[in-house]
Amino acid sequence: MSLKSHPKLELHLHLEGAAPPAFIRGLSQERKVDISGIFDERGHYTYRDFWHFLKVYEAATSVLQSPMDYHRLTLAVLEECAASGVIYAETFLSPDFCGGRDLVAWRDYLAAIEDAAAQAEAELGITLRAIVTPIRHFGPDKAKEAARCAAETAGRFVTGFGIAGDEKVCEPEDFLWAFDCAREAGLGITAHAGEWRGPEHIRATLKALNPTRIGHGVRAIEDLALVDELAERGTVLEVCPGSNIALGLYPDWRSHPIGQLYDRGVKVTVSTDDPPFFHTTMAREWDRLHDAFEWDDGVFATLNRTALEAAFCDADTRQALAKKLETAQ
Ligand SMILES: [Zn+2]
Repeated sequence: MSLKSHPKLELHLHLEGAAPPAFIRGLSQERKVDISGIFDERGHYTYRDFWHFLKVYEAATSVLQSPMDYHRLTLAVLEECAASGVIYAETFLSPDFCGGRDLVAWRDYLAAIEDAAAQAEAELGITLRAIVTPIRHFGPDKAKEAARCAAETAGRFVTGFGIAGDEKVCEPEDFLWAFDCAREAGLGITAHAGEWRGPEHIRATLKALNPTRIGHGVRAIEDLALVDELAERGTVLEVCPGSNIALGLYPDWRSHPIGQLYDRGVKVTVSTDDPPFFHTTMAREWDRLHDAFEWDDGVFATLNRTALEAAFCDADTRQALAKKLETAQ
């Protein structure tokens, strides 16, 4: 069966990580940058493990060199999302990649991305919002600069702040200043945790940064008291099962903890993370979840409702999306 046509909301998507490989290859040829080593013989991205994946990601991103490149990238990504039935997506954007954390350059990149998003909304009916995301392994000082960019541009389009990259580098409290700055600017707060480090890192992240959402968070399953605490707090997990399986965190779909987390009352949502890197799409995620856990329309409607409630968007946008979900039922 295919759940492709069902409307979907996706809260955890890295814009560069969603770049179709053909798009990046084309751009590398235009720029005369040789990054052929990051592709396999079929033209897919190739990497050995998560840490190599981060390197390949940065190499792919190196060919994106101007706001116009990001305009094209945004359109290419949103076309893929819309083809999977996605009506609303939130994407991580890093001032590190978009203008080297220079505020003037960042504004130019944002304007181009927002313009492409408006075009996609008019043509494909998909809405995009942005979560500014410093890269953890670039360190706390660069995260501060990214937070300043986020605070200066917070508004209808830039609605959230998070942190991504190598989870094993630095502690949550090292980024306190950046998160406080973003929170004061009215941005929604999320943080990657509980993917490459265990439950104790989720606890530390909740304590230090107080996010309403956690990126991944699946390793909470190793500590059932934490699972219950997440359910009680109503913390929303941005779960990306296909990503976790592709990176070897779990051997297959049936072993993935999303089913147990859902059954124990944790607010879970489903996203693709970096879809072409993990050979996935939102439609594929839903299909695999249906196969692995026999999830029916009722469960998928709950996932959508949870994502809608947890989305970092304004009330008008939320209302318009609720209407779209209603009419699709
Ligand atoms: Zn991620």
